[in-house]
Amino acid sequence: LSDINEVRIAGDRLWNSLMEMARIGATAKGGCNRQALSDEDRAGRELFIEWCEAAGCTVRVDAIGNLFARRPGRDETLAPVMAGSHLDTQPAGGRFDGVYGVLAGLEVVRTLNDATITTEGPIEIAAWTNEEGARFAPAMLGSGVWAGVFDLDESYAIVDRTGCRLGDELDRIGFKGPVETAVRRPHAAFEVHIEQGPILEDARQQIGIVTGVQGMRWYDLTIDGQSCHAGTTPMELRDDPVRHMVTMLRELYALIDDNGPGARVTFGEITTHPASRNTVPERVAVTVDLRHPEETVLEGLEVSMNEVVSAVSGAGVDRIWASAAIDFDAQCMHAVAASAKALGYSHRRMVSGAGHDSVYVSRVAPTGMIFIPCENGLSHTEVENADPDDITAGCNVLLHAMLARDRHR
Ligand SMILES: [Zn+2]
Repeated sequence: LSDINEVRIAGDRLWNSLMEMARIGATAKGGCNRQALSDEDRAGRELFIEWCEAAGCTVRVDAIGNLFARRPGRDETLAPVMAGSHLDTQPAGGRFDGVYGVLAGLEVVRTLNDATITTEGPIEIAAWTNEEGARFAPAMLGSGVWAGVFDLDESYAIVDRTGCRLGDELDRIGFKGPVETAVRRPHAAFEVHIEQGPILEDARQQIGIVTGVQGMRWYDLTIDGQSCHAGTTPMELRDDPVRHMVTMLRELYALIDDNGPGARVTFGEITTHPASRNTVPERVAVTVDLRHPEETVLEGLEVSMNEVVSAVSGAGVDRIWASAAIDFDAQCMHAVAASAKALGYSHRRMVSGAGHDSVYVSRVAPTGMIFIPCENGLSHTEVENADPDDITAGCNVLLHAMLARDRHR
């Protein structure tokens, strides 16, 4: 084991596995449609299990369909070091989002097999159910149930747009496993993922050491006015909710700009009622997505936003969803940084702008994430792409971060 630091993953093998998995649910424009609990999801799961068993792992399925492939260690009473992500995709998704983190875990196992390395404790690869939330909302459901954030029976009752129940679909594809009596807390958990944004590519850096995931809050905002005729009502005699909205949004953008680059706001859906060209609307509905890496700043932004909104409309905003900011485990982060450095990859610390299974996993186990660049920063699209060298680099960092945490107990 003296040359354990010299061990490297087989980049071609990982790339070929990614491309073979991408054939399941392949779309005409080169992407993937492998939505949670569809026939394609079943086929992807079966291929993954076949590969894991060929690599000597035993695979178990839990009650929400999460898969855990286990490679034994020297001492089976020790908690596993885990690598995981998700195999499901967006309806018009890419070949790397999620699946990279799962197959990188498999590549770690294959590499350990080739190098005949026995780890201290077991290694587990997790494939979490329904991370995307595209077919069954909310997102990150499987890891959330595992972490005790979501109730199992309530999760079974979630329906898709066609009325299919999640529990029935899980049964139909043959992946409703037994209820596990206690969560088996991993010693450490890692997730390697494409960045899904432009920062690493822009900075020409290969590895992102993810320090945490920013906090996110969603709100519904309605502004009332008086509906009237577009031609006959003078401007100064109108109570136009669109004009109120413009005032409000200008102030909200100023609030966000004053809070530095960490603050982000998006007004993704703006709807007027009634929607008619020659009628001043009586109401405007606006969706708000507010994010910041620090929970206290996010809280302050919500207070300020409420002040702006109530000053203009007399009413507050309605918070409909929140996900608290997460700081990843210091030792896991250190293992990622030390591995990236030892391997000679350019790297930087960064906060994840998107949610990931690791948000919920980090409630149970010390967790760390690794990012690699993606082409033009694009994800959740069929043109999503990544460089094979970066794919290899991220997996080598994963391997050595996992080995470091396995040795350090
Ligand atoms: Zn993902």
